Amino acid sequence: MSSIASLIKLQEVDTQLQEIRELLGDLPVKVDELSQKEKSFVEEITQAKTRIKEIDLDMSKKDHNAKAIQTKIQKLKDQLFLVKTNKQYDALSQEIDYLKEELDSIETGELEISFEKDTLAEKTEAHENNLESLTSDLHERKSNLELLIEESSEKKKNLENIRQSIIADISDAIVSKYNRVLSARNGVAVVEVLDASCSGCGSMVPPQKKAEVKKGNSIYSCDVCSRFLYWPTQKKD
Ligand SMILES: [Zn+2]
Repeated sequence: MSSIASLIKLQEVDTQLQEIRELLGDLPVKVDELSQKEKSFVEEITQAKTRIKEIDLDMSKKDHNAKAIQTKIQKLKDQLFLVKTNKQYDALSQEIDYLKEELDSIETGELEISFEKDTLAEKTEAHENNLESLTSDLHERKSNLELLIEESSEKKKNLENIRQSIIADISDAIVSKYNRVLSARNGVAVVEVLDASCSGCGSMVPPQKKAEVKKGNSIYSCDVCSRFLYWPTQKKD
């Protein structure tokens, strides 16, 4: 038996289901976005720390080489006082110059990687600060979401059961029309006639139809928006 009373009840249930969906809103999407961001921060921090370790290792190697070269240079300089010929002196001087160039290039390399290290350390510190607030934000949203899902899931299940039992009382043709209108009309498929107008779209309901709607013997819908119409007093049954 299809009656307008069943459609009114169906609409009430669907409105409540819609409210539950809106309550969750974009929270699941936000939680997902924050989780992705958290993951990428953690990855970047890990990579930066690995690179910093490599730099430290490289730096101590470079330091070690530089010291060895400095020692060599000092030794050669000492030998300069002992040489007997110009040729020997020139040869030693050349070797010293060559070693000085090598030392220069090591020191330049050290400057470069120490700059890289400072930049990485700064970036990592900023990331770690961001991560802290991100993580606490994320956890708050996650626990909100879990709470909402928990609270609403039982309510949702009940409403869906009620929906099924209401639908069982309505003819398939009306149910499918109802579903079509519901999705086309923003979740509102059943509306009352108010001041001789459809309260869904505001268009006039002709007097004859208004009288039929008021009687409630059959199901009528608005000619303009297709929403099912009922008389205000039919809501309380
Ligand atoms: Zn209408």
